[in-house]
Amino acid sequence: MVEDEEAMARVIRRGLEQAAFTVDVASEGTSGLQMALAGRYALIILDLMLPGLDGWRVCEELRARRCRVPILMLSARGTVEDRVRGLETGADDYLPKPFEFSELLARVRALLRRDRVHRTRVIRIGDLEIDTAQRRVTRAGQPIGLSRREYDLLEALAGHEGQVLTRDVIQERVWADTEAYSNTVDVYIGFLRKKIDAGHAEPLIHTIRGVGYCLRRPEPEGSQ
Ligand code: CA
Repeated sequence: MVEDEEAMARVIRRGLEQAAFTVDVASEGTSGLQMALAGRYALIILDLMLPGLDGWRVCEELRARRCRVPILMLSARGTVEDRVRGLETGADDYLPKPFEFSELLARVRALLRRDRVHRTRVIRIGDLEIDTAQRRVTRAGQPIGLSRREYDLLEALAGHEGQVLTRDVIQERVWADTEAYSNTVDVYIGFLRKKIDAGHAEPLIHTIRGVGYCLRRPEPEGSQ
């Protein structure tokens, strides 16, 4: 994150850390640019009004040097011209200040998701293959037809292979655009199980009682 307002940087950092992200902060443009070029970051949150290089210049420099890390611009100057200029210099998204942290977090997650999907077209977990560009799924080479929500649910789980996702997190990601019933996630997990796991010796979808669900590859034989 490149942000010169200390209080703002602190709030964002704390929120992101609570959401399990690791955050480095630069308080002016030149050091921000250097860190961004030297580090291996998944995403850059970039303020526009900065001492040293401003956010537009930082963004331009990064793109000129073939840095393709997603950039989310922040600025109090939320005019249409500012937004357009930000996007034209190579930013991926733009969030005007003031904003709710929950919106920043949602945008961060959306950018990371888009970037991951863009970079890894095919996710492989055991004999399950998910072509994220085509939204096609096979297991052991057999095509599996999924509804839109079933697919979104599978991709959400697959994007966090081996990690437990709570019902709330799943609901927020897959049913963000609509009201879901309290048992919707469980019902759709049931649908997915029938399509993904039924007839296979090793289930991939696991229920973690009282917590949520996890998609993981089978343990290699003899490891237990
Ligand atoms: Ca600033």
